[in-house]
Amino acid sequence: IPALSERINAMAESQTLEMAKKARELKAKGIDVISLNLGEPDFVTPQHIREAAKKAIDEGFTFYTPVSGIPELRKAIAEKLKRDNNLDVKAENIVVSTGAKQSLVNTLMALVNPGDEVIIFAPYWVSYYEMVKMAEGVPVLVHGSLEKQFKVSAAQVRAAITPKTKAILFSSPCNPTGAVFSREELTAIAEVVAEYDHIFIIADEIYEYINFSGEHFSIGSLDIVKDRTITVNGFSKGFAMTGWRMGYIAAPKWIADACDKMQGQVTSGANSITQKAALAALTGDMAETKKMSEAYRRRRDLVIDLLKEIKGIKANVPEGAFYIFPDVSDYFGKSYENYYIKDSYDLCIYLLNEAHVSLVDGGGFGAPNCIRISSAASDENLKEAIRRMKVALEKLK
Ligand code: PLP
Repeated sequence: IPALSERINAMAESQTLEMAKKARELKAKGIDVISLNLGEPDFVTPQHIREAAKKAIDEGFTFYTPVSGIPELRKAIAEKLKRDNNLDVKAENIVVSTGAKQSLVNTLMALVNPGDEVIIFAPYWVSYYEMVKMAEGVPVLVHGSLEKQFKVSAAQVRAAITPKTKAILFSSPCNPTGAVFSREELTAIAEVVAEYDHIFIIADEIYEYINFSGEHFSIGSLDIVKDRTITVNGFSKGFAMTGWRMGYIAAPKWIADACDKMQGQVTSGANSITQKAALAALTGDMAETKKMSEAYRRRRDLVIDLLKEIKGIKANVPEGAFYIFPDVSDYFGKSYENYYIKDSYDLCIYLLNEAHVSLVDGGGFGAPNCIRISSAASDENLKEAIRRMKVALEKLK
């Protein structure tokens, strides 16, 4: 649309939301669609967190808060990061935002000049690419392969660095692959970045609590890069708080101050009630978080086992998050009735219409051979979905 800005015209629609819309349209026609397309826990926020929000309302905690968040929350976040993540941070290093999404945009807006390159580890979370473009940066993709659990190596990072590189950006545990970078892998990457004064690390750790590998390691805890790492985290996944909108960064003070400045002109402080709820989440009992993580692990095992029965699907075993990201390229070039499958988008449309299972194709994640299956659903729905997928996929010749 010519009257719209070039910025918005150049922006891609969120692929996950597009698939969700198509599934809703079928559901509206009365079709029993199983939706495994969204990146959202299927659990309700734990009770004690909801109670803290009610209390905040009843006490009239309804005013603007400081832009970077209420002091007690920033302090609690700093303490958590020191205790669990070995980050050397204080409250002044923390900026609380309306979701990790906003935290990422703040950071990129604060650091990236037009033409600066941001190295994104692919497969990547869909929004990274568009966020870098929004900041007028240039996304540079470095691809991890299925054989290596989709993990990008330090050597690959080195090969992608140019004088224009401003930052590297990745998530661990990763959406969409479930890959978890080990201490050794992150140390090797940090050693490469540390050789260049002009490169920052943006580490998205929002799936920290959904990790089956035994250790969550924060790259920002390494002395060699602690002065140029921005650690992004939030409450949406680990505490099942997607609708509350609450995330944060920990960063060197000058970057945190810049994010405060940016946010001060856009949204101001995050929701006051949500901040009280987040404080209760951080300082309260973690039993629910552990229980949810165990459920995700059990479902991962279930899905991986069932997928083994489907010949054309190649999957790695994710170590975290709640996604399975199989390679489905064996089906490319096959057909059934009016359907011809040329890529993973076609396959997702086929599975939606033929199996009534809604998934997301890997194109938007920088992995056109893959599809993303969210395992944040009941065991019953997961079993039925994979059964239907198997039947539909076997029809493709
Ligand atoms: N980062 C990653 C890797 C995600 O998958 C998501 C949500 O899907 C976010 C950030 C955004 O989280 P929030 O709900 O805190 O904005």
